Amino acid sequence: MSFTTFQLGGIHPPERKELVAASAIEEMKSPQKVIIPLSQHIGAPCKASVEVGQEVKAGQVIGAPEGFVSAAVHSSIGGKVAAFESVLMPIGRMVPAIVVERPANRQDEAWHPAQDDKDYLKRSPDELKSRIKAAGIVGMGGATFPTHVKISPPKEKPIDAVIINGAECEPYLCADHRVMLESPEPVIEGLKILMTVLGVSKGYVGIEANKPDAVERMLEAAKGANIEVRTLQIKYPQGAEKMLIKSILDREVPAGGLPMDVGVVVQNVGTAYAIYEACRYGKPLIERVVSVTGGGVNNPKNLRVKVGTPISQLIESCGGLKSSAGKVISGGPMMGFAFFDLNTPVTKGTSGIVVLEDKDATGNDKYYNCIRCGRCVEACPMGLMPLMLSLYSEKGHYADAKDYKLFDCFECGSCTYVCPANRPIVQQIKLAKTQVKP
Ligand code: SF4
Ligand code: SF4
Repeated sequence: MSFTTFQLGGIHPPERKELVAASAIEEMKSPQKVIIPLSQHIGAPCKASVEVGQEVKAGQVIGAPEGFVSAAVHSSIGGKVAAFESVLMPIGRMVPAIVVERPANRQDEAWHPAQDDKDYLKRSPDELKSRIKAAGIVGMGGATFPTHVKISPPKEKPIDAVIINGAECEPYLCADHRVMLESPEPVIEGLKILMTVLGVSKGYVGIEANKPDAVERMLEAAKGANIEVRTLQIKYPQGAEKMLIKSILDREVPAGGLPMDVGVVVQNVGTAYAIYEACRYGKPLIERVVSVTGGGVNNPKNLRVKVGTPISQLIESCGGLKSSAGKVISGGPMMGFAFFDLNTPVTKGTSGIVVLEDKDATGNDKYYNCIRCGRCVEACPMGLMPLMLSLYSEKGHYADAKDYKLFDCFECGSCTYVCPANRPIVQQIKLAKTQVKP
């Protein structure tokens, strides 16, 4: 059977999903200490709203948003504010963070719902939006854009479709797959909430064909609603917003534009689940599902973990690193970032921890001249000329790279993956973007 997909470019890296695809989500024990970064989202960092020594409960706001494009952060455990410190994030940036510790002799005090509003779909769009905002929800697929902003498009950009992104096209990762399998109803309810907020009558769920069991569960959960569950061809980067919109609705987001420019809002599976919990129970975003996987970890698992838990503890819960472990990546191997420090905490956007074996973790330290083979051009889903971006960046001619639509690149890494000269194209593009303004 042939399934829909985007037409331009795309690649087929080994999926490696079998490591955790059949592993049910395990609840990870609540840690004694969490490190909560004040900036886990795109936009203004939060301002600490607690003091050192103060007692806090699980789910209490400890960082208040500064401005509209920002998202509150909450303590994920009950305990005492132990310190303010800076923490190194996978993108290489130091970010202020709040450390909360629970005394060794104290039991974990889990978060309890303050409400059970079964009639959430009868609430006004503004009320639902304010619950989503209060819960500090951001895009959990890795983009971390504050959700309350994404669902507040300007009047001149009417929305007529909401898509739940269940593609999970990054190799290895299975967190969204497991959420769809184990909790399909909450995900569909999250979609219905989004449709209510945006005044949209038709919703979509896009799932790659390598997850037929998830397609089945979501179809079942969506019965009776005006929601279409669409199976998509397996092709990276199928889960990128622009590709997903093209695949499902055959609409093209213009260069430099956003999904709202073509009447669409896209949210990821984990985000839809969090939206349901926020609107029904008032639950803040204090935990998430993370796939801890790859050939370099002893027992790969899907874990539900508290935001702020150090990565080292997730790896420990999975039996530790193998002696062959070469690189630990936040997110998937295509768009993720290598960790510098395993004390870095899980954030709202951490969809996976992939531990590659040394033999698979080859760096781009030795690369060669471009042989003009054109493979990167064929692979680019944005129709760009990655070779030119790479060459201009290498020579320091960043303004020339801009002329080749530098800022249309969303750093999917497809060009780098196919380059026979092993050129670090996406790294050179990222460098160029730091040197010129859009
Ligand atoms: S990283 Fe950028 S240039 Fe390379 S394939 Fe992806 S979108 Fe195209
Ligand atoms: S794939 Fe590599 S070698 Fe081929 S054209 Fe692109 S940059 Fe040059």
